[in-house]
Amino acid sequence: MAKNGATLAVELEAVSRRFQLGDLEVAALTDVDLQVAAGEFVVVLGPSGSGKTTMLNLIGGLDLPTTGRLVVDGDEITDYGARRLTEFRRTHIGFVFQFFNLIPSLTAAENVAFAAELVENEAGIAQALERVGLADRGDHFPAQLSGGEQQRVALARALAKDPPLLLCDEPTGELDFETGKMILGLMRKLNQEEGKTFMVVTHNAAIGAMADRVIYLRSGRIDRMVINDSPIAAEEVSW
Ligand code: ADP
Ligand code: MG
Repeated sequence: MAKNGATLAVELEAVSRRFQLGDLEVAALTDVDLQVAAGEFVVVLGPSGSGKTTMLNLIGGLDLPTTGRLVVDGDEITDYGARRLTEFRRTHIGFVFQFFNLIPSLTAAENVAFAAELVENEAGIAQALERVGLADRGDHFPAQLSGGEQQRVALARALAKDPPLLLCDEPTGELDFETGKMILGLMRKLNQEEGKTFMVVTHNAAIGAMADRVIYLRSGRIDRMVINDSPIAAEEVSW
C-alpha cells in the first residue's frame, strides 16, 4: 500500500541496471525510485538511450536489476529466478511493442490464443478482439491488416489474460498520426473502463498531455515528474 492508502502497481527502490560490454560499463538506469498507483496512466518520456526500455523491461520481469528492489503488483520480483519470472509475466503483465511482434503465419485470433494459452477458450479470444474493436478480423493474417489493426491485435493479445499492468514500449512509433492517437485513445479507454494500469514509453513529448503523470528520464535517471491535473483526450493530442 502507498502512503496515501492507494494500492501500488509498481514500486522501484534505488533500482540500477548496468551492462558490461567488454571493458566498458554502461549505466542504463541509475538509482531510480518510483511508485505507480494501480489505475494510473503514466507516460515515460526521454530521448533515445535514456533508459526507457530498460526500465520497462525491469518492471515487466524481462530483465533483473543490478542493484535495488522491485515490487510489481505486490510481488517482489527482485530475486526471482527464470521460472518464477516467467510465471509472473504470464499472470501480471501485458506487453505492447513498437513493431507489434505478431507471428506472421498465425491469424489475429491465433496470435491472441497462442500468447494467452487460450486455445481451448474461443469466447476469451473473441472477447479480447472485441475489446479492441476487431471482432470481425480474427481470421485475418497480420499481412492482411493495417499497422493500426496489427497494433490492436497486439493489444488484444496483451489483454487476453487480463493482466492488471500494461507496459507499452513506443506503441505508436510505427503508426501515422491519426492511427497512433486511435491506439492511445483505446489504451486510455481500457484504463478508465477496466481500471488497467498503463505505462507508456515514448520519445514523443506531445503524448505526455494525455497522461495522469509524466516521468522524464534523462541519462538513466528520473529527471522530473509532472502530474497532469486535467489530462487531455488522446484524440486532442497533437504532434
Ligand atoms: P531507450 O529505450 O530510452 O532508448 P534503453 O533503455 O534501450 O534506452 O538504453 C539505455 C542505455 O543502455 C543505452 O545506452 C543502451 O545502449 C544501453 N543498453 C540497453 N540495453 C543494453 C544491453 N543489453 N547491453 C548493453 N547496453 C545496453
Ligand atoms: Mg527504447
